[in-house]
Amino acid sequence: MAGKIKILEVGLRDGIQNENVHFTVSDRFYILKKLISAGLQHIEVGSFVSPKVMPSMGLTPSLMKKINRSLTISKNVELSALVPNERGFDMAFDHGLKSMAVMTSATESFSKKNINCSIEESLERIKLICKKARRFRVRIRGYLSMAFVCPYEGVVSVRKVLNIAEKMKSAGVKEIALSDTVGGATPLQVSSMIEKISKKIPLSHISLHCHNTRGMALPNILTALNAGVQSFDSSIGGLGGCPYAPGSAGNVATEDLVVLLQGMKQKNSIDLKKLTQISHWLKTKKKVCLSSYMSRY
Ligand code: MG
Repeated sequence: MAGKIKILEVGLRDGIQNENVHFTVSDRFYILKKLISAGLQHIEVGSFVSPKVMPSMGLTPSLMKKINRSLTISKNVELSALVPNERGFDMAFDHGLKSMAVMTSATESFSKKNINCSIEESLERIKLICKKARRFRVRIRGYLSMAFVCPYEGVVSVRKVLNIAEKMKSAGVKEIALSDTVGGATPLQVSSMIEKISKKIPLSHISLHCHNTRGMALPNILTALNAGVQSFDSSIGGLGGCPYAPGSAGNVATEDLVVLLQGMKQKNSIDLKKLTQISHWLKTKKKVCLSSYMSRY
């Protein structure tokens, strides 16, 4: 294993979009500042979707305004947001973002439910966004949802995932997040997926996005890490779930992922104590029920 492992903090987007607790702009700003001060360098701050579709994300433009007004972001820190279409891209760009994420799904049923279009249509949208991104020098990563197990269609074949991942890559998506959206993947599935995908797509373009529904997030991450994956998504405290994926739990907790990486002698500059303080704040001030192991202490 060589190189530094990248952690993308998705608590402010994937996390809070599925919490019943309301997070004000000030709450989000506070969390963001604390995440940066804990040493996180890749942070997804929200999404530029219609508030009708995802009410909790309606505050993303206000959060960006506050960030632009009152925070100096160092060059080492990359903020990003999810954009569903070109309109979202334009809004995110106008708010100063140079890194964005798009989304598609490995199964038609989830695509229809989550983004209200077919996989093919979502790939068309991704192509348009990537075209614009090239022009404006914006980095695009892409979530490939339901890459392992779908609540509607069961176990998803590697062939299907690879086919869509290759289309995403040729559209210009720089990093493809294989997403275990419902947390149903197993280490065996992960190792087989990574092995087959790596024959077609360099692992430097792959990341793993795990939910911890059945406690398999860390074993799956360890498996992918040992197979050469160097980029992982996580959310502070293990916030989140998925509103269109019944029964799914939050993302793997950032502090638990950091403990795993430290245990694997993967160096990074993250301050674990500062991270757990954010989780403590979420528990005591926002009364959020957290799933992370480290937040128990
Ligand atoms: Mg997710």
